[in-house]
Amino acid sequence: MKKTIKDYDLSGKKIIIRCDFNVPIDGGIIKDDSRIRKSLKTIKYAIKNNAKVILMSHLGRIKTEEDKEKYTLKPVGKCLSNLLRKKVTFIDQTRGEKLEKAINNMKNKDIILIENTRFEDLDGKKESNNDQELGKYWASLGDIFINDAFGTIHRAHASNLGIASNLPNGLGFLVEEEIKKLTKLITKPKKPYTIILGGAKVSDKIGVISNLITKADYILIGGGMAFTFLKAAGFNIGSSICEKEKINYCKEILDKYQEKIILPIDVITAKELKENIKTNERFINEIEEDELGLDIGPRTLEVFKQYLDDCKTIFWNGPVGCFETKGFENGTKELLKIITNTKAYTVVGGGDTLRAANTFNYENKISHISTGGGASLAFLEGIELPALKIIDEK
Ligand code: ADP
Ligand code: MG
Repeated sequence: MKKTIKDYDLSGKKIIIRCDFNVPIDGGIIKDDSRIRKSLKTIKYAIKNNAKVILMSHLGRIKTEEDKEKYTLKPVGKCLSNLLRKKVTFIDQTRGEKLEKAINNMKNKDIILIENTRFEDLDGKKESNNDQELGKYWASLGDIFINDAFGTIHRAHASNLGIASNLPNGLGFLVEEEIKKLTKLITKPKKPYTIILGGAKVSDKIGVISNLITKADYILIGGGMAFTFLKAAGFNIGSSICEKEKINYCKEILDKYQEKIILPIDVITAKELKENIKTNERFINEIEEDELGLDIGPRTLEVFKQYLDDCKTIFWNGPVGCFETKGFENGTKELLKIITNTKAYTVVGGGDTLRAANTFNYENKISHISTGGGASLAFLEGIELPALKIIDEK
């Protein structure tokens, strides 16, 4: 078991909490503050226990000097302050005298938010390449390091692995909960267990397919990736998205796990991906040469429903259609309805899948929505997660 924030006496100590405040911001306005709200439990616990709280996070990607204005964490500081009903001092530096002075003057229960850790990427990608000196420097600002950023747990960055290598450390509540809930999908999942995979590409999901196929009873495949599978199964997929170099992989999986992999039997097609364009319902042996498959069809939904209705565990990653475009959202929307009407333990992961759940107002009906897109997939692949591995054992 990994140490958590609860394993430390925090009183009077400087606690560096690595949060995931990577929220959508447009013109200084936060479009969705759910990631910030999810981090409150750990922050409040630290305040309650008389810590001096130093918060860090990345936001977006910083490639040019101009990106800095767009991706400053300043609006996050304001939002946090409102949510906590408490002063949050934002320091517009990732290192330097101003920051050090502010930290030295902290009293118990004070909160400081440091500027976007990725500002350090402008100078030789120091944050993203886990520059040793930077990790050491940030660690020197605190007494204990708490990692509560699940979204970057699969990355080796200075603000997670780097600091953790140089300080006593533990996990925050958000990461602890993610691990507990995602573990249920790989260790003794309640059966029947069905996985839904969609999204554009097979190549993004190969690791997950390979690791979970032995644990799940069925994998239902939709979205763009279904067409590489359908092609591998010998169907004519018209102009639908297809990864030629993955056809052999799909063939192997289909041969080996014939009964487990369930492919669409009908799809919604169009001549191009555009709103208000003429759409057709096609059985998969009827797709015409100049058509793209852009959503699963109603008969496929019926089939998928049969595999989901009695499930005890369901995991879903990747929209089954181009839900962002009107006319191609039905499959994803209906599947959300189907899974939330079951009694199953339902977990949804992936940035776009999450967006779909939000758009169609199902987020409160899902047992667990993972905050990490790539991180949750990496966890389920069973690969080593550097920023988690480094955390001390109890
Ligand atoms: P997540 O972010 O949840 O992991 P992905 O990034 O893998 O999901 O995939 C999401 C994208 O897949 C969406 O933007 C969606 O438009 C696209 N997609 C879904 N179905 C299709 C399709 N039939 N053809 C092309 N793209 C598709
Ligand atoms: Mg995505």
